[in-house]
Amino acid sequence: MSPMEGKVAAIFGIANKRSIAYGIAESLRESGVQLALNYQNERMGASLDKLAENLGNPWRQECDVTDEEAVKEFFAAIRKEFGGLDYLIHSVAFAKREELGGEYVDTSWEGYALAQQVSAYSLLTLCKYATPLMTGRDGSVIAMTYLGAEKVVTNYNVMGVAKAALEASVRYLANDLGPKGIRVNAVSAGPIRTLSASGVSDFIKLLDFVAEKSPLRRNVSTSDVGSAARFLLSEDARGITGQTIYVDNGFSIMGI
Ligand code: NAP
Repeated sequence: MSPMEGKVAAIFGIANKRSIAYGIAESLRESGVQLALNYQNERMGASLDKLAENLGNPWRQECDVTDEEAVKEFFAAIRKEFGGLDYLIHSVAFAKREELGGEYVDTSWEGYALAQQVSAYSLLTLCKYATPLMTGRDGSVIAMTYLGAEKVVTNYNVMGVAKAALEASVRYLANDLGPKGIRVNAVSAGPIRTLSASGVSDFIKLLDFVAEKSPLRRNVSTSDVGSAARFLLSEDARGITGQTIYVDNGFSIMGI
């Protein structure tokens, strides 16, 4: 029996089969983890219904991560359904398409604030209501990030700055939650062709460049990320917290 059998994971961010969160959900399900999923609104709920069968028809509830009341209700419902929570997966981000191209200096305050709210601040909101359910359960939290947080990636702009805030938040949260036995880490994935990624100008060119330059000479898959995420959530990673772990075929080690 897998040591993760029967654990409970709340996964935020499945839009479709290409979503990184879907790869994580598949990987956790293989290990017998019980899944609890969010969807942002009714329309996304209907498309998640179609996917849910492949994932064993898991529990799910509407929850926009910018709506604190909805987040509170989501975790209250998880407490009722499962009695507690072991893992939290934050795989959510948003920026306006017009802010993901051109020059960063042209970012509007509204676009900047929106990217921060959905992509970084939401991790705090989720942790605030999720972690009380992890008491005595060696909880583990992961958030999805990207290299654009620390290096300039053309067109990533406002999202790079939001990811920098997300990675710093992971460190502060790790320090807050460590005494309660809860670990918090970020997974920095290489580029993957998903719905969100398609908003970044010239994303296909980026994919080709990264595949050519990475030590492993390919792009990562959602399954590669799912396996690494499962490791980080598991007891095997019990000594790891506050870190950003790269799942990028080694691209981030390259200089020129
Ligand atoms: P995705 O499939 O489009 O997933 C993004 C998810 O965020 C969607 O399910 C979306 O829901 C959700 N979302 C956006 N705003 C929300 C809100 N207010 N409330 C609740 N959910 C909301 O794209 P993805 O690439 O898998 O992205 C997942 C994470 O990985 C993101 O943090 C992204 O930045 C990160 N990441 C992606 C890559 C890449 O190259 N793809 C690389 C590194 C890191 P809706 O569809 O309903 O809007």
